[in-house]
Order: sequence, then structure tokens, then C-alpha cells
Amino acid sequence: MWVKAVDIVLDRLVMQEADLSTVAAISAAGQQHGSLYWSKHGISALQSLDPEKFLHAQIDDSAFVVNRTPIWMDASTTKQCLEMETAIGGHTQMVQLTGSKCYERFTGPQIRKIYQQRTHAYEDAQRISLVSSFLASLFLGSVAPIDFSDGSGMNLLDIREKAWSKACLNACAPDLDERLGQAVSANTVLGGVSEYFVKRFCFPASCQVVACTGDNPSALAGMLVDNDWLSVSLGTSDTLMMSFEKPPNWEEGHVLCHPTQTDEFMGLLCFRNGSLVREAMNNVEAGGNWVKFNELLESTPRGNFGNMAVHFNDMEIIPKAKGTLRWNKDCLPNSPDASKGVIKFSSPQIEIRALIEGQMLHHRAVAEDMGFQFGTNTKVLATGGASINKSILQVIADVFNAPVHIQNESEAALMGAAYRASYALYRHELDQTVPALSYRDHVLSLTSNNLQLVCEPHKDSESIYAPMLERYKAMAHILQSGIL
Ligand code: ADP
Repeated sequence: MWVKAVDIVLDRLVMQEADLSTVAAISAAGQQHGSLYWSKHGISALQSLDPEKFLHAQIDDSAFVVNRTPIWMDASTTKQCLEMETAIGGHTQMVQLTGSKCYERFTGPQIRKIYQQRTHAYEDAQRISLVSSFLASLFLGSVAPIDFSDGSGMNLLDIREKAWSKACLNACAPDLDERLGQAVSANTVLGGVSEYFVKRFCFPASCQVVACTGDNPSALAGMLVDNDWLSVSLGTSDTLMMSFEKPPNWEEGHVLCHPTQTDEFMGLLCFRNGSLVREAMNNVEAGGNWVKFNELLESTPRGNFGNMAVHFNDMEIIPKAKGTLRWNKDCLPNSPDASKGVIKFSSPQIEIRALIEGQMLHHRAVAEDMGFQFGTNTKVLATGGASINKSILQVIADVFNAPVHIQNESEAALMGAAYRASYALYRHELDQTVPALSYRDHVLSLTSNNLQLVCEPHKDSESIYAPMLERYKAMAHILQSGIL
């Protein structure tokens, strides 16, 4: 399926008369964490592709020793996670080394499971690729290295040293370093495109293949934002992305090597209770109509007369807490009924504002706790399904006390791949005596920034939401204590 997908994409490009002879460099974004296991035969097939035939006719099942590729939705490796963390001295150590505690979907635990349950297949695997480096391999005609950013989603890379951690490799499977090959920066030009693509699709022989990376880092690369920005994705779950000069130690969430600032890091925080909770509230209080939902939201003042709510319908990730808590202005953290709060607010508009303000206060509280510094230069980029909802974005602007922007271009991960290809080629060809432009400056010299300012905070926002943030933290703490 992976290989056939590439055949289909290229054929569609040809059918749409894309002039592939003008392509100077290629990179790609691949879904994070998935892995492919090359057989000896697969590697030699890759190196001797016949341009008369489809890729999938040549790189078929026999090219791999495992034909059901583990991907990010695989959560079957709890045992291997525990074993790997125990072997290296606990999950704090795992966080310090790799930027994340062991997660089931991460590639290291998945590799260990294959090693344990299909030992012969593991032994026969000559090389292991991530989805991203696999794509690079197809274009390169040989197995391509894994890049540091996507490599950060494996529980195997030492994100500070930017090299495989010996301790993690040993905790995972034997002789793993030779199967992974050396990891490289996402800015690396790997080599010329394979002759197959030159002959079959008229790519120029000079076309360069640039290291591919994961979809999340690639999305950050496509946003063209600097360290003052917080990107807020309002999808099924809500996700925050941010850049750091120094890697924080997060017990939850993920720290990855930055895809474009090679000496920096990116943080990724996921919240389980995002759009689905908003959707449920919309169904109950506004008949499932977002226009009505927004009218109700806008009919209440900022601060909601002191009414606040936490809605963790599903077990939240940070903090680990579940349940709903509503407070009116009289509830105080130390009052005897603080953990009960009030049963229901008096109107749908108060319910709706309490939910949206509560969610955004939660995101702000966690981002601050995790080391993101909100200040006068902070700007927010909103993406994902709910980012078309301006009334919700206004609440974000007010709670974060920062202007909110959206992107005119929705395919951030795809654009990130193209921008990185261009930047790596620029650096590759640059006369070493000339100072290099930064990634962002280079891309913005070629294309305009597709960001659009949609909401600005009201002047009184900080005075309203700073005290609410403290009350909010107390509420979340109560729910957290309830499950401990
Ligand atoms: P995914 O995480 O699957 O990529 P999307 O980014 O496509 O999700 O976002 C889907 C979510 O967007 C849905 O759960 C839906 O509730 C939400 N959504 C769509 N339109 C609106 C709207 N006008 N206002 C608020 N939320 C919306």
C-alpha cells in the first residue's frame, strides 16, 4: 500500500500535466511513528528499479520482512514500554534522553515487539525505515537515513546528542543501530533522485532528495512561525505546538528535535477533550447549530459573571483527570463544597462560555506549566476544524491575551515538506563564505506568508483572565485529586 500510493500520486501528477522536469528538490512528510522492515531482496530491488514498470510491481511484499506495518494507531506495546523504561532506569530517564516517556505507538516499543514475537523477521530485517525515511528511500533508490525530528518519535534518539541512545537501543532489540543507520538533520541533502524517476517521470538528473520528516514537525515547518508563536490545532483533540531553544523535561507531551532550527526543539502537547466536547455541548445547548452556539457564546461577557467549568468528559492527558466541575462566583478553592461546585448553570449561554473559556484556560495553564512564556510578543496560530469558528478564536485571543491568526493555506505539513526541500537545496548550493539566510527568511523571500490576523485580545483581557487562571488550576487540581 505504501509503495502503490507513491505510484498513484506520481501518475496523477503526470495526468494533470505537472512538469516534473522543473523539480529541483524533493522532500516529504510521513505519518509519524510507523515503521517498515526491509528484506535483503527489497534493498537490491530498490537499487535496480526498471523504469518501464510500476514501483509496486518491483518493491512488493518480498521487499519487506513484515507485511503488516505497525503505525501510530497501534497501542499494543504496553509491555514493551514498561520493559524499555525499566531497562534504562525509569520513565524520567526516558523523558530526559528521548523527550517523551515510552508511548505504545512510538517506534522503539513497536520494534521490540517485532523482535520478541517475530524474532526471525527481525533477524532478517536488513534496515528499518520510518514512513518518512521510507519515502525518501524510494526517491533516492537506496535506504535513506532517518531525520532527527521524526527520529524523536521513537523513544530511541538522544534528542540532545542527536544520535541514537545506546541505552535505549540496548533496551529495545539487538544490533539495532545497524538496522537504523545514522540519523541526520532534516536539512540534509541526501543525494540525487534515482534514475528510475529521471527516466520514467522526466525528473531532472540534478534533482536532489532532501531528508523527509514526520507530519507534525513538517506542519510546524509549514507554518513559518518563529519562537513567539504558539500554534493551537483545534481538531478532534486539541494540540499545542511550540518552539524551544532548550529542551524542557516533560513528563507528558513530547519534545522533538526542531525540523528547521537544527539546534532547537519543538514541543507537542495533546489534549483529549477538544472538539468532541465542544460538539457535545453544541448538540445539547444549541441543537447542533454552530451559528446558534456562537450567538449564545457572544451574548455573555468575558469572565462569564464568575461562572467557570472544567469538562474532562474523557480521561484528560495533562493532568490525568476525568469529570466535570462547575463553579459560580461564590465557590472558592477552600470552601467545603469546592469539589461539588454547582450542578448546572442557569442558561445555555453561561454553559457554553464556561466550556470554551475553561478549555482555553486549561490550554494556557498547561502551556505555561510546561515552560512556554506568554508575553507581549506572543502570537497564536489556530488550525484544525474549529479554527473556522471566529467566536471561539476570540475567546482564545482573550484568554491567551494574544492576537490569533489563521492560515490561508490549509496543508501545512505538505507546504513544510516543499519549503524544507527548497531551504536544504539553498544551503547545499550556497557559497560557504556567504552568510546563510534563516529558514523562515529564505522561504519568505520566495513566497508570501499566508497568515491572516483574525482576532485581537480586548484591553481588559489580562485583568479578567489572570485571576481566572488561578481559579481554573484549583478546579483542575480537584478533579485530578478525585481520581488519584
Ligand atoms: P481531525 O483531528 O480529525 O483532523 P479536524 O481538524 O478536521 O479534525 O476537526 C474536526 C472538528 O472540527 C470536528 O470535531 C468539529 O466538531 C469541529 N468543527 C467543525 N466546524 C466547526 C465550527 N464551525 N465550530 C466549531 N467546531 C467545528
